[in-house]
Amino acid sequence: MIMVKAPAKINLTLDVIGKRDDGYHEVEMVMTTIDLADRIDVTLTDQPDIVVDCSTAYVPTDERNLAYRAAVLMKETYGIRQGITIRIDKRIPVAAGLGGGSSDAAAVIRALDTLLGLNLSHDEMAALGARIGSDVPFFVYGGTAVARGRGERIEPVSPPPPCWVVLAKPPLAVSTADVYRALRLDAIAQSPTTAAMVDALNRQDFAAVCRSLGNMLETVTFSLHPEVRKLKERMLAFGAEGALMSGSGPTVFALVRQFSRARRITNALRGFCRDVYLVRLLGDARHRP
Ligand code: ATP
Repeated sequence: MIMVKAPAKINLTLDVIGKRDDGYHEVEMVMTTIDLADRIDVTLTDQPDIVVDCSTAYVPTDERNLAYRAAVLMKETYGIRQGITIRIDKRIPVAAGLGGGSSDAAAVIRALDTLLGLNLSHDEMAALGARIGSDVPFFVYGGTAVARGRGERIEPVSPPPPCWVVLAKPPLAVSTADVYRALRLDAIAQSPTTAAMVDALNRQDFAAVCRSLGNMLETVTFSLHPEVRKLKERMLAFGAEGALMSGSGPTVFALVRQFSRARRITNALRGFCRDVYLVRLLGDARHRP
C-alpha cells in the first residue's frame, strides 16, 4: 500500500487563444499547486479488479472516475495482472475549478509507478495522463508551470513568492464544458498575458504577480453566476492584494502576503460563504510519492 497526496491547483492565468479543428480550445495558462489535497491510498490486490472508494458520496467510483481511468490505463499499458484498490479521502471541493479529479488521476499514475518499480520519467507519465484529461499532465509535474495546447504541454517555471491563498467556493457546480461553450472569443476586450506573469514570477515580484492575474473565463462564469463576481469583489474589499477565479470556477482565490491579513479575510468571507480555506502555495515542491 502507498499513500499519496493529490494537491489542488489554482490558475494564475488562463488565456484562451482560439478554437481548434478538433473542437478543443487552445489555451495558455500558468498554474500552481496549493496545500489543499486529497489523500489517496493505492493497494495492489490478488483479485484482478479495479475498485475505487471515495469519501464523498456523489463522486462516481466507476469508469467515470478519473482515478479509475488512470488505473485502467496503467494496467493495460504495463500488463499489470494484479487488481488495484484506490481509496480517495476527498478534501478538494468537487467541480470547483481546482482540478481535483485530474490530480487524483496523476496521483494514481505516480503511485503505481512507485509500487511497481516502473521508473517512468515525468514525460512518460504526463503522456499517459494526457490520454485521461488535459489537466492531468500538469499534476504529474506539480509545482508551478505554464500549460499550453489543450493544457497538456507543460513548461515548469519559477514558483510565486511565498504568500497565503484564501479560497472561497460558492455553493454552485460549474461545468467546464458549459463555460467554454458560452465563451465568445471575439467579445473579450483584453486577454491575460502569460508572458507578464512568467516575468513577474522570475523577478519574484509579488505586486506584479497580483497585477498579472487574469482568467478569460471569468466574464463567462460571472455572467452565468453573478455571486461569483461578488465574492471576488468582497475579497479585494477585505484587503486581498490580488484575487481571481480559478479555472472555469466557481472557486475564487485571493493572494495575501501577511498571515494576519489572510486570516482576517478568511473570517470575513465566512460570513458569506460556507466553503472557505486558508492554505499555502506548494511553490515548486515536486511531489513524488
Ligand atoms: P473540470 O475542470 O474538469 O470540470 P474541476 O476541477 O472543476 O474539473 P473536479 O473536481 O475534477 O472539477 O470534478 C469534475 C467532475 O468530474 C465531477 O462532477 C465528478 O463527477 C467527476 N470526477 C471524476 N473523477 C473524479 C475524482 N476523482 N474526483 C472528483 N470528481 C471526479
